[in-house]
Amino acid sequence: MVLIGHSMGHLCVVIICRVVTLKLMLMLGEISAVTAAAGLAAGGYLYAGMWPTSQIFGRAILGGGDPSEFALTYDDGPNDACTEALLEILSRYDVRATFFVIGRFVAQRKELVRRIRAAGHLVGNHTMTHPVLLFQSPARVREELAGTNAAIEDALGEKVRYFRPPHGARRPDVLRTARELGLTPVLWNAMGYDWKPTTGEVIVANLDKGIRRNRAAGRGSNLLLHDGGQAGIGQDRSASVAATETLLRREIPNGVRFVTVDEWNGS
Ligand SMILES: [Zn+2]
Repeated sequence: MVLIGHSMGHLCVVIICRVVTLKLMLMLGEISAVTAAAGLAAGGYLYAGMWPTSQIFGRAILGGGDPSEFALTYDDGPNDACTEALLEILSRYDVRATFFVIGRFVAQRKELVRRIRAAGHLVGNHTMTHPVLLFQSPARVREELAGTNAAIEDALGEKVRYFRPPHGARRPDVLRTARELGLTPVLWNAMGYDWKPTTGEVIVANLDKGIRRNRAAGRGSNLLLHDGGQAGIGQDRSASVAATETLLRREIPNGVRFVTVDEWNGS
Protein backbone atom coordinates (compact mmCIF):
# COMPACT_ATOMS: atom_id res chain seq x y z
CA MET A 1 0.00 0.00 0.00
CA VAL A 2 2.62 2.52 1.08
CA LEU A 3 4.89 1.39 -1.71
CA ILE A 4 2.16 1.95 -4.29
CA GLY A 5 0.85 5.14 -2.72
CA HIS A 6 4.20 6.91 -2.80
CA SER A 7 5.51 5.74 -6.11
CA MET A 8 2.74 5.71 -8.68
CA GLY A 9 4.69 7.88 -11.11
CA HIS A 10 7.95 6.04 -10.88
CA LEU A 11 8.24 3.31 -13.48
CA CYS A 12 10.89 1.22 -11.73
CA VAL A 13 8.97 1.08 -8.49
CA VAL A 14 5.76 0.32 -10.35
CA ILE A 15 7.48 -2.66 -11.96
CA ILE A 16 8.67 -3.79 -8.52
CA CYS A 17 5.10 -3.42 -7.28
CA ARG A 18 3.91 -5.68 -10.05
CA VAL A 19 6.48 -8.33 -9.24
CA VAL A 20 5.49 -8.06 -5.57
CA THR A 21 1.84 -8.35 -6.64
CA LEU A 22 2.64 -11.52 -8.54
CA LYS A 23 4.54 -12.94 -5.57
CA LEU A 24 1.69 -12.10 -3.19
CA MET A 25 -0.80 -13.75 -5.51
CA LEU A 26 1.29 -16.89 -5.69
CA MET A 27 1.53 -16.88 -1.89
CA LEU A 28 -2.25 -16.94 -1.79
CA GLY A 29 -2.05 -20.26 -3.60
CA GLU A 30 -4.70 -21.92 -5.77
CA ILE A 31 -4.01 -19.25 -8.42
CA SER A 32 -2.99 -20.46 -11.84
CA ALA A 33 -0.05 -19.20 -13.88
CA VAL A 34 -2.54 -17.68 -16.34
CA THR A 35 -4.15 -15.68 -13.53
CA ALA A 36 -0.70 -14.64 -12.32
CA ALA A 37 0.22 -13.43 -15.81
CA ALA A 38 -2.98 -11.39 -15.91
CA GLY A 39 -1.84 -9.94 -12.61
CA LEU A 40 1.26 -8.50 -14.26
CA ALA A 41 -0.97 -6.54 -16.60
CA ALA A 42 -3.45 -5.41 -13.99
CA GLY A 43 -0.75 -4.48 -11.47
CA GLY A 44 -1.84 -2.48 -8.47
CA TYR A 45 -5.53 -3.18 -9.06
CA LEU A 46 -4.97 -6.85 -8.36
CA TYR A 47 -2.79 -5.98 -5.39
CA ALA A 48 -5.69 -4.10 -3.86
CA GLY A 49 -8.17 -6.78 -4.85
CA MET A 50 -6.30 -9.88 -3.70
CA TRP A 51 -3.95 -9.04 -0.85
CA PRO A 52 -5.83 -9.93 2.33
CA THR A 53 -4.73 -6.95 4.41
CA SER A 54 -5.40 -4.34 1.69
CA GLN A 55 -8.36 -2.16 2.64
CA ILE A 56 -8.45 -0.01 -0.48
CA PHE A 57 -11.69 -1.59 -1.79
CA GLY A 58 -13.60 -1.12 1.43
CA ARG A 59 -13.37 -2.24 5.02
CA ALA A 60 -13.28 -5.88 5.93
CA ILE A 61 -12.78 -7.53 9.32
CA LEU A 62 -9.16 -8.48 9.90
CA GLY A 63 -8.01 -9.01 13.46
CA GLY A 64 -9.31 -6.68 16.17
CA GLY A 65 -7.14 -4.65 18.54
CA ASP A 66 -6.18 -7.19 21.20
CA PRO A 67 -3.13 -9.37 20.40
CA SER A 68 -4.27 -11.98 22.91
CA GLU A 69 -7.42 -12.67 20.87
CA PHE A 70 -7.28 -15.33 18.13
CA ALA A 71 -10.04 -16.40 15.76
CA LEU A 72 -9.87 -19.92 14.34
CA THR A 73 -11.55 -19.76 10.94
CA TYR A 74 -12.23 -22.75 8.67
CA ASP A 75 -13.06 -22.41 4.99
CA ASP A 76 -14.43 -24.70 2.26
CA GLY A 77 -16.57 -27.05 4.41
CA PRO A 78 -18.76 -28.56 5.59
CA ASN A 79 -16.61 -31.66 5.13
CA ASP A 80 -17.90 -34.68 7.02
CA ALA A 81 -15.16 -36.38 9.10
CA CYS A 82 -12.82 -33.37 9.29
CA THR A 83 -15.55 -30.97 10.34
CA GLU A 84 -16.79 -33.50 12.88
CA ALA A 85 -13.26 -34.00 14.29
CA LEU A 86 -12.94 -30.22 14.66
CA LEU A 87 -16.29 -29.99 16.43
CA GLU A 88 -15.10 -32.60 18.90
CA ILE A 89 -11.78 -30.80 19.63
CA LEU A 90 -13.34 -27.34 19.86
CA SER A 91 -15.93 -28.68 22.27
CA ARG A 92 -13.25 -30.37 24.39
CA TYR A 93 -11.42 -27.04 24.75
CA ASP A 94 -14.69 -25.09 25.08
CA VAL A 95 -13.74 -22.81 22.16
CA ARG A 96 -15.94 -21.26 19.49
CA ALA A 97 -14.69 -20.89 15.88
CA THR A 98 -15.92 -19.47 12.57
CA PHE A 99 -16.80 -21.69 9.59
CA PHE A 100 -17.02 -20.11 6.11
CA VAL A 101 -19.02 -22.73 4.25
CA ILE A 102 -19.52 -23.40 0.54
CA GLY A 103 -23.19 -23.13 -0.41
CA ARG A 104 -23.36 -26.21 -2.63
CA PHE A 105 -21.92 -28.35 0.20
CA VAL A 106 -24.34 -26.80 2.71
CA ALA A 107 -27.24 -27.96 0.55
CA GLN A 108 -25.87 -31.53 0.73
CA ARG A 109 -24.99 -31.48 4.46
CA LYS A 110 -27.67 -29.43 6.22
CA GLU A 111 -27.54 -31.57 9.33
CA LEU A 112 -23.78 -31.05 9.77
CA VAL A 113 -24.19 -27.28 9.35
CA ARG A 114 -26.89 -27.38 12.04
CA ARG A 115 -24.50 -29.24 14.33
CA ILE A 116 -21.79 -26.59 13.76
CA ARG A 117 -24.23 -23.84 14.70
CA ALA A 118 -25.77 -25.75 17.60
CA ALA A 119 -22.28 -26.02 19.14
CA GLY A 120 -22.14 -22.20 19.22
CA HIS A 121 -19.85 -21.61 16.23
CA LEU A 122 -20.35 -18.82 13.72
CA VAL A 123 -21.35 -19.87 10.18
CA GLY A 124 -20.42 -17.54 7.31
CA ASN A 125 -20.87 -17.37 3.54
CA HIS A 126 -18.00 -18.57 1.27
CA THR A 127 -19.99 -18.53 -2.03
CA MET A 128 -21.78 -21.40 -3.82
CA THR A 129 -18.92 -22.65 -6.04
CA HIS A 130 -15.74 -20.88 -4.85
CA PRO A 131 -14.88 -18.76 -7.92
CA VAL A 132 -12.35 -15.91 -7.92
CA LEU A 133 -14.99 -13.17 -7.64
CA LEU A 134 -12.61 -10.60 -9.10
CA PHE A 135 -13.16 -12.16 -12.53
CA GLN A 136 -16.94 -12.75 -12.36
CA SER A 137 -19.78 -10.58 -13.67
CA PRO A 138 -21.74 -8.57 -11.09
CA ALA A 139 -24.76 -10.83 -11.73
CA ARG A 140 -22.71 -13.97 -11.03
CA VAL A 141 -21.26 -12.41 -7.87
CA ARG A 142 -24.78 -11.70 -6.59
CA GLU A 143 -25.90 -15.23 -7.49
CA GLU A 144 -22.94 -16.78 -5.62
CA LEU A 145 -23.57 -14.72 -2.48
CA ALA A 146 -27.37 -14.79 -2.44
CA GLY A 147 -27.45 -18.53 -3.22
CA THR A 148 -25.21 -19.31 -0.26
CA ASN A 149 -27.18 -17.03 2.05
CA ALA A 150 -30.31 -18.94 1.03
CA ALA A 151 -28.66 -22.36 1.54
CA ILE A 152 -27.42 -21.44 5.03
CA GLU A 153 -30.69 -19.77 5.99
CA ASP A 154 -32.57 -22.83 4.81
CA ALA A 155 -30.38 -25.08 7.02
CA LEU A 156 -30.23 -22.84 10.08
CA GLY A 157 -33.35 -20.69 9.93
CA GLU A 158 -31.34 -17.56 10.65
CA LYS A 159 -29.71 -14.73 8.71
CA VAL A 160 -26.09 -14.95 7.58
CA ARG A 161 -24.00 -11.93 8.59
CA TYR A 162 -20.44 -12.64 7.46
CA PHE A 163 -18.76 -13.43 4.17
CA ARG A 164 -15.24 -14.43 3.21
CA PRO A 165 -14.37 -14.06 -0.49
CA PRO A 166 -12.69 -17.18 -1.95
CA HIS A 167 -8.95 -16.54 -2.42
CA GLY A 168 -9.46 -13.19 -0.67
CA ALA A 169 -10.39 -11.74 -4.06
CA ARG A 170 -12.73 -8.79 -4.14
CA ARG A 171 -13.40 -5.48 -5.85
CA PRO A 172 -15.64 -2.55 -4.91
CA ASP A 173 -18.85 -3.98 -6.36
CA VAL A 174 -18.25 -7.38 -4.68
CA LEU A 175 -18.08 -5.72 -1.29
CA ARG A 176 -21.04 -3.48 -2.15
CA THR A 177 -23.14 -6.49 -3.20
CA ALA A 178 -22.10 -8.32 -0.04
CA ARG A 179 -23.22 -5.38 2.10
CA GLU A 180 -26.52 -5.11 0.19
CA LEU A 181 -27.13 -8.75 1.09
CA GLY A 182 -26.45 -8.02 4.77
CA LEU A 183 -22.93 -9.49 4.76
CA THR A 184 -19.82 -8.05 6.41
CA PRO A 185 -16.64 -9.10 4.56
CA VAL A 186 -14.00 -10.95 6.59
CA LEU A 187 -10.40 -11.57 5.52
CA TRP A 188 -7.47 -12.96 7.58
CA ASN A 189 -4.01 -11.99 8.81
CA ALA A 190 -2.33 -15.37 9.41
CA MET A 191 -2.34 -18.34 7.03
CA GLY A 192 -1.83 -22.05 7.65
CA TYR A 193 -1.22 -22.83 3.94
CA ASP A 194 -3.18 -26.01 4.64
CA TRP A 195 -4.94 -26.40 1.29
CA LYS A 196 -2.09 -28.58 0.00
CA PRO A 197 -0.73 -31.84 1.49
CA THR A 198 1.17 -30.90 4.65
CA THR A 199 1.52 -31.69 8.36
CA GLY A 200 0.11 -30.16 11.53
CA GLU A 201 3.61 -28.97 12.54
CA VAL A 202 4.14 -27.12 9.26
CA ILE A 203 0.69 -25.53 9.46
CA VAL A 204 1.36 -24.28 13.00
CA ALA A 205 4.77 -22.94 11.93
CA ASN A 206 3.07 -21.06 9.06
CA LEU A 207 0.43 -19.62 11.38
CA ASP A 208 3.13 -18.62 13.87
CA LYS A 209 4.71 -16.29 11.31
CA GLY A 210 1.45 -14.36 11.08
CA ILE A 211 0.87 -14.55 14.84
CA ARG A 212 4.31 -13.02 15.55
CA ARG A 213 3.62 -10.24 13.03
CA ASN A 214 0.23 -9.54 14.60
CA ARG A 215 1.60 -9.51 18.14
CA ALA A 216 4.31 -7.04 17.10
CA ALA A 217 1.63 -4.84 15.52
CA GLY A 218 -0.64 -5.11 18.58
CA ARG A 219 -3.54 -6.84 16.81
CA GLY A 220 -5.46 -10.06 17.17
CA SER A 221 -4.78 -13.06 14.90
CA ASN A 222 -7.39 -14.11 12.37
CA LEU A 223 -6.18 -17.62 11.47
CA LEU A 224 -7.04 -19.01 8.03
CA LEU A 225 -7.48 -22.79 8.02
CA HIS A 226 -9.53 -25.24 5.97
CA ASP A 227 -11.85 -28.02 7.10
CA GLY A 228 -12.77 -28.78 3.49
CA GLY A 229 -11.73 -28.25 -0.11
CA GLN A 230 -13.46 -26.54 -3.01
CA ALA A 231 -13.09 -29.64 -5.24
CA GLY A 232 -15.64 -31.60 -3.21
CA ILE A 233 -16.72 -33.09 0.08
CA GLY A 234 -14.39 -35.80 1.45
CA GLN A 235 -10.96 -34.20 1.20
CA ASP A 236 -8.42 -35.00 3.87
CA ARG A 237 -7.81 -32.09 6.23
CA SER A 238 -6.49 -34.15 9.16
CA ALA A 239 -3.33 -31.98 9.27
CA SER A 240 -5.52 -28.91 9.87
CA VAL A 241 -7.33 -30.78 12.64
CA ALA A 242 -3.98 -31.69 14.24
CA ALA A 243 -2.77 -28.07 13.94
CA THR A 244 -5.93 -26.87 15.68
CA GLU A 245 -5.35 -29.14 18.64
CA THR A 246 -1.68 -28.09 18.92
CA LEU A 247 -2.63 -24.40 18.92
CA LEU A 248 -5.36 -24.81 21.51
CA ARG A 249 -3.16 -26.88 23.79
CA ARG A 250 -0.34 -24.34 23.53
CA GLU A 251 -2.20 -21.02 23.55
CA ILE A 252 -5.00 -21.42 26.09
CA PRO A 253 -2.47 -21.69 28.98
CA ASN A 254 -0.77 -18.58 27.48
CA GLY A 255 -3.93 -16.56 28.10
CA VAL A 256 -5.10 -16.43 24.47
CA ARG A 257 -8.85 -15.98 24.15
CA PHE A 258 -10.37 -17.69 21.11
CA VAL A 259 -13.16 -15.60 19.60
CA THR A 260 -15.48 -15.70 16.61
CA VAL A 261 -14.94 -12.96 14.01
CA ASP A 262 -18.20 -11.17 14.85
CA GLU A 263 -16.52 -10.02 18.08
CA TRP A 264 -14.23 -7.85 15.91
CA ASN A 265 -17.03 -6.18 13.97
CA GLY A 266 -16.59 -2.45 14.40
CA SER A 267 -13.06 -2.63 15.83
ZN1 LIG B 1 -11.95 -21.10 0.20
